Order: sequence, then structure tokens, then C-alpha cells
Amino acid sequence: MGLDWIHQADRLSALPPYVFARLDELKAKAREQGLDLIDLGMGNPDGPTPQPVVEAAMAALQDVSNHGYPPFEGTASFRRAITDWYYRRYNVELDPDGEALPLLGSKEGLTHLAIAYVNPGDLVLVPSPAYPAHFRGPLIAGGKIHSLMLSAEKDWLIDISAIPEDVARQAKILYFNYPSNPTAATAPREFFEEIVAFARHYEILLVHDLCYAELAFDGYQPTSLLEIPGAKDLGVEFHTLSKTYNMAGWRVGFVVGNRHVIQGLRTLKTNLDYGIFAALQRAAETALQLPDIYLEEVQTRYRTRRDFLIEGLGKLGWSVPKTKGTMYLWVPCPPGVGSTDFALSVLQQTGVVVTPGNAFGSGGEGYVRISLIAECDRLQEALDRFAAAGICYQPMAVS
Ligand SMILES: *Cc1c(COP(=O)(O)O)cnc(C)c1O
Repeated sequence: MGLDWIHQADRLSALPPYVFARLDELKAKAREQGLDLIDLGMGNPDGPTPQPVVEAAMAALQDVSNHGYPPFEGTASFRRAITDWYYRRYNVELDPDGEALPLLGSKEGLTHLAIAYVNPGDLVLVPSPAYPAHFRGPLIAGGKIHSLMLSAEKDWLIDISAIPEDVARQAKILYFNYPSNPTAATAPREFFEEIVAFARHYEILLVHDLCYAELAFDGYQPTSLLEIPGAKDLGVEFHTLSKTYNMAGWRVGFVVGNRHVIQGLRTLKTNLDYGIFAALQRAAETALQLPDIYLEEVQTRYRTRRDFLIEGLGKLGWSVPKTKGTMYLWVPCPPGVGSTDFALSVLQQTGVVVTPGNAFGSGGEGYVRISLIAECDRLQEALDRFAAAGICYQPMAVS
């Protein structure tokens, strides 16, 4: 009420409208009507956190030394666990004192990195579609976004050769993410080599989001930016425990790479927060040290769902390629139907929630993202409802 004399800062009005808001409204309405929603819209893993991690957290809660403010730079033992994990996975050596920083989830760090490094008017390169924090962070900082439009024809890879020379010269930072949310695309090692050469030539800071480092299938091993020689001179990489370890609610992530960039982010964060509760950092160490058998279980769970849903969608006319990573399928809307309209009509007709591709930027128009966050019996139910409602993909549709 009232308060019409106080206005939000301009940086908030720079943000594009949140497509999820409209979807949330309709979800609430559908629930009120007693509809049994199948929510495949979020990127929120559906399983429990592994028991050894929960047990480590419970033990750490009893340890009084964890009850005070944690160190700004994160606990030494969690930083050591991060760099050990990195060495084990990628054979890359990192200094736990300066080249690794725990974060309150990677979204926090991705956004704050922009606050720490983007001045008003600075040019930031961001793919479209992209994970929203990759463009919303720079927008909050007052930066200008140059969208790198992705397409199915180029396998949703950034076409580096299509970046205009003047744009490349002006650009300060490039955000990117493979295996990708939302497109589920993966990038070959040569792509990483190419982007490092590009960044070196034009003096651009590379920010790679390797959120799906371990959600990969069929023997595919995602590439870390830091595996590429020289990448540490010009890049940082973000990781999260949210997805692989079903720890989205715990808020634990980290950034590794260039120590000067990490120092800048740390300076900002020193002014904003105290980092992660020390007991949870102890539990997070346990997660990074889990035996590989745990990973295989998680990978099998998502791979099984992937295969199940691709096959089911195939019967409805969709030809969705087998993704090599992430927990998503990136599915084209029927020809001539926009993403928002398609997602809304699917929700209204079937109670199945999918995310309209344009929530990830205009480059996501014409697609919806389906999260593999339900068991196969629920996925089957979703497919049955699609069939009953006549929802299918008809390339030759005429209306
Ligand atoms: C889920 C996700 C994140 C967020 O991770 P948190 O650590 O939970 O903040 C970051 N990047 C991408 C690409 C994601 O899909």
C-alpha cells in the first residue's frame, strides 16, 4: 500500500519479465482445480541427498566448532576436497588457497561475478538460449548483452566465427555452458580449444558453467575448460553439488580457475555474505569423495528416463536426439506454435508442466525444455495424457 514515493533501483527494471511467473500462476490454478500436475518444468532433481552426505552433515552439526561464522574463503578442508576432486576428474592441479572458492550455490557466484567484473555499459557475450543467471547477472550489473544465437543446425554450439570483429573487440566477458541447460548439447574438446584461442586473441574473460560435469551418459566425459592449456590465464569454471548429488536445497557450489578473478569475486562476497555453514561444507566434502558407484547410479537413473521419454515422444511424432548429458530434453514445438503457447496449452490440457524455451532467451523460441525429474511411470502418464489430448509433433501440419 502507498509507498509510491519509493522506487526500485533501475537495475531491477533492466531485467526482462520472468516467463516462469505466468506459468506459476497457471500451475496454482490447475492445482486448485484438483488437477494432478506432473511437473517437468524445473531443474530440481527429485531424489534424496545420498545418505553418507546426510550423515556427515548430522555429525558436523554436533561439532561446536562449526557453529560460528565460517571463514570467508570457505573451510580449508572443503577447498582441499574441491582441488583433489578436480585432480581426480580432470588431472588438473589447482591451488586450494586462491584457485578454488566455495559458493552459496553456483547461481550466486555466476551472478556476483558479473557484479564484481561488469561496469555499466560493458559488453558481455551470452548465448541465446542460456541459463538465465548468465544474462540476468550482467544485466543487474548494468552491462550490455550481445546474444550469440544458437541453432539446431550448428548443434547448439556457439558459432565463434560468426561473432563480428567489433563485438569481439569490445567484449569483456563470455559466459557459456556445456553440457548445456537448456539445450542438453555437449561441446567437443576442439570447441573448448577454439574458444580459448578466441578469448586470448580478444582478451575476453571466459566464464564456463560446468553444472552438469557428472550427469553424462554412454561413456561421454564432459570437458572442463581448465583442461585446455592456458585456460587458467583467462577463465574460471563454476560447479554445483545441486544436480549430481541431489543437493539443490543445501546451496553448495564452487568456482575454480584464475586466481585474480576469484580474488575479485571473493572481495565482493566478503562484503555480502559469510559463505556456507561450515557443517554443510563438511558434508559437501563427503559428497565429492563418494565412490564412483554412486555416480553410476545417478547416471543410470537419468539415462533410463532419457531413453524412455525419447522413445515415447517418438511414438507421438517427435524425433529427439539422444542427449549425452544433463537432465533435460530440448523438444521442438509443433510447427507454427510458439513456446509460451505450447507450454501453456500442454499445461491446460494435460497438467504436464514443461518450460517454454523463450524463458532462456529469444534463441529458445520454438522449443520447450522437459526435465527428467520424474520416474518412468509418471513419464508414461504424461505421454498417455499427451496422446489422449492429441498433442503430437506433425512436421507437415497444415491448418
Ligand atoms: C541448476 C543450474 C545452476 C544452479 O546451480 P546452484 O548451484 O543450485 O545455484 C547453475 N547453472 C546451470 C546451467 C544450472 O542448470
